[in-house]
Amino acid sequence: MIHRLSTLFVRTLRDDPAEAEVPSHRLLVRAGYIRRAAPGGYTWLPLGMRVLQRVEQIVREEMDAIGAQEVHFPALLPREPYDASGRWTDYGPNLFRLQDRRGADYLLGPTHEEMFTLLVKDLYSSYKDLPVWLYQIQTKYRDEARPRAGLLRGREFVMKDSYSFDLDDDGLQRSYDAHRAAYVKIFERLGLDVVIVKAMSGAMGGSASEEFLSPCASGEDTFVRCTSCDYRANTEAVRIGSLADVDASTTSAARVVDTPNTPTIQTLVDMLNGRDDLRRDAGAWSAADTLKNVLVMLREPDGTRTPLAIGVPGDRDVDMKRLEAAVAPAEVDAFDDADFAARPNLVKGYIGPDALGEKTSSGIRYLLDPRVVLGSAWVTGANTPGRHVVDLVHGRDFTADGVIDVADVRDTDPCPNCGSHLRIERGIEMGHVFQLGRKYADVLGLQVLDEKGKQRVVTMGSYGVGVSRAVAAIAESHHDQLGLRWPRSVAPMDVHVVIAGKPGDDTGPAAEALAAELSNAGLHVLLDDRDGVSPGVRFKDAELLGMPMIVIAGRGIAKGVMEVRDRIAGTTTELPIHDVAAHVIAANA
Ligand code: ATP
Ligand code: MG
Repeated sequence: MIHRLSTLFVRTLRDDPAEAEVPSHRLLVRAGYIRRAAPGGYTWLPLGMRVLQRVEQIVREEMDAIGAQEVHFPALLPREPYDASGRWTDYGPNLFRLQDRRGADYLLGPTHEEMFTLLVKDLYSSYKDLPVWLYQIQTKYRDEARPRAGLLRGREFVMKDSYSFDLDDDGLQRSYDAHRAAYVKIFERLGLDVVIVKAMSGAMGGSASEEFLSPCASGEDTFVRCTSCDYRANTEAVRIGSLADVDASTTSAARVVDTPNTPTIQTLVDMLNGRDDLRRDAGAWSAADTLKNVLVMLREPDGTRTPLAIGVPGDRDVDMKRLEAAVAPAEVDAFDDADFAARPNLVKGYIGPDALGEKTSSGIRYLLDPRVVLGSAWVTGANTPGRHVVDLVHGRDFTADGVIDVADVRDTDPCPNCGSHLRIERGIEMGHVFQLGRKYADVLGLQVLDEKGKQRVVTMGSYGVGVSRAVAAIAESHHDQLGLRWPRSVAPMDVHVVIAGKPGDDTGPAAEALAAELSNAGLHVLLDDRDGVSPGVRFKDAELLGMPMIVIAGRGIAKGVMEVRDRIAGTTTELPIHDVAAHVIAANA
């Protein structure tokens, strides 16, 4: 088919849109693929629609290939099933809630576990019906706290979500493996490099879960890769495990020392190293010898706020994303001045373990980083302004309410699996596979009769692909300084033919003839046949729009040649006019 730029509904922009922070957002808007319609909501223009549909089609084909069956739910859903699962509340402010004219509660589906569970319950009742795998490609709604980067994080977006239903754990494992393998194929066909990492299951519940991340500097996720073994995990899911206790039998008794004007770790370390009476055999004091107690407020989905204290070695910080993942569905707020004012026993900058813990007068739950092992000795706040305590030993001088592994993960940190070094990278979450288990089937009563005629609760998996996010992620990894550079599998058109001569010369007819020949061969041809647009602007637009091949009918026509640019290979060649069609067709075969 020939698509003419003179009539195509598209306008390219010379300048980057002001709000665009990442290349994919900038380029998709500038090249006329999408337009912003609302915060976190985008309109798909014809070129964008074509990419979206091709991505959907690849996802659909691979889901069909494993035997999953496509269905389609409404996005507008009743409250009751989400009440039963607890997610009406657990989703907190991320859920779009609304009411109909009678005052009944509805929501816009953020993901559809409940609805699929009820659908299978409606129709199936025997183990003979299982396994069954159902999916949809559908618009989801989440009132994201930080919609950003265009399609990468929208409040309305397209997701492929599928759900598996099995009688037992072995069945679930097979369903999970089949989806995982389909995802590998999907991302390969989309031209996206992905790393499969261990993941947290978040608000979904359930156990085994992995994410498919596309490595990319503008990604919001950070993940680790071990430099020697195959350990890969989202930093949210990194667990350093329990470390060995240390022997504190020779550690001196804890003592409180005056440390005026040392509200920060660095000022404290400098002061410790400047004092002769605190010189020690182990050498200079460092931030790693101090225990920093970080206070936060957890906001539960129902709005209640509870304080939490986290003790981490002073050379580390609490990683807020790791903390949020660990305490989900609660969200994390700062512990602000009013929170301090309400608790006068907490001395800002000098908070020590004595003032923390559920059994103390503060009643604040106190959790420790796993590096704060039993027997380890710390310099930490003495709960009086300008004073710290030295050699405070965990287990001897203080206790906590538990362990929480949410300190920052660093490049070169030891691998929890083999002890070698971790490397940190950023990535975009493209897909997520979960073994949900029986959580939803339990609360919604999805049971089938087994071989012995006994009712058994079904076990489920849930599997998502970010379809609209994939369009942006592909753009993120397939562009250059000139513009987009679509892989052939998802490009909106196969080839872009540019008429770059003067009105009335031979370039127009030559380009038209080529376009017709390519179209007859089944290719989608974008033909730049616009009037009154200079060759320079046409070239720039062709590079910006990003079709995998550009053919230019310009000055060379007089010599009997056209210029063929392969945007993927990055090559430019001149070919005799009569060879161009065969060359382009072969490249698209
Ligand atoms: P994230 O951690 O990025 O918020 P999530 O873990 O909440 O994502 P899932 O519930 O696992 O997302 O959804 C399945 C897939 O849907 C994700 O892997 C991602 O590709 C896509 N997705 C999730 N949220 C968004 C969004 N706001 N905009 C676009 N795509 C999204
Ligand atoms: Mg996820």
